[in-house]
Amino acid sequence: MEDWGEALAAGDASWYIPSMQPRNPWGGGIEVITGSMFSGKSEELIRRLRRAIIARQRIQVFKQGLDDRYAAGQVVSHSKWRLEAERVAKAAEILDLVDPRTEVVGIDEAQFFDADLVRVAGHLADLGKRVIVAGLDMDFRGQPFGPMPELLAVAEDVEKVHAICARCGAPASYTQRLSQAQEQVVVGAADIYEARCRRCFEPGGPGEEPELYPPDESEG
Ligand SMILES: [Zn+2]
Repeated sequence: MEDWGEALAAGDASWYIPSMQPRNPWGGGIEVITGSMFSGKSEELIRRLRRAIIARQRIQVFKQGLDDRYAAGQVVSHSKWRLEAERVAKAAEILDLVDPRTEVVGIDEAQFFDADLVRVAGHLADLGKRVIVAGLDMDFRGQPFGPMPELLAVAEDVEKVHAICARCGAPASYTQRLSQAQEQVVVGAADIYEARCRRCFEPGGPGEEPELYPPDESEG
């Protein structure tokens, strides 16, 4: 193919000559996209991966085997964009599954992974790959979630995205659980969680409001 533009238009990737591509001139690295639920993390992950696909880069996407929210083996954003993902039980499995030719590795729902994900992401970045990780920074108690705090520390680039507080409309950083369940992970949909700002967030679920009694006129 003589004309790259023509090849692109024809959807022909055979013109691609790796050494001539100005891609990834700085080597590999880790990007983290984080925030509360409903903040658009998966949306942003998919946006970056779509751009990589348009740039004819080889991508692979992984997610933890736990999250059955929408569809098996897919990254799904709330606005319904979908991307095929490989499901793994443990972070170390990602190293076995990444093709040496893969240039961009996407990892969704990273908070569900074991602590080894930090080493795995670092190793892939050392190999020159762009690693894009999306996950919740805090659990329903407002505590750092799984391997996320360490990933945030070692990442080259961090983007915190914000939802809208369901109570007051302010930018929201917290995930409010609307039930009394106390397990860290209750995978579910919109009716179990909502986004809240710091002021409206009730850590650990809706608390018991102390009763306020009016003065008792009959006493005294
Ligand atoms: Zn609020």
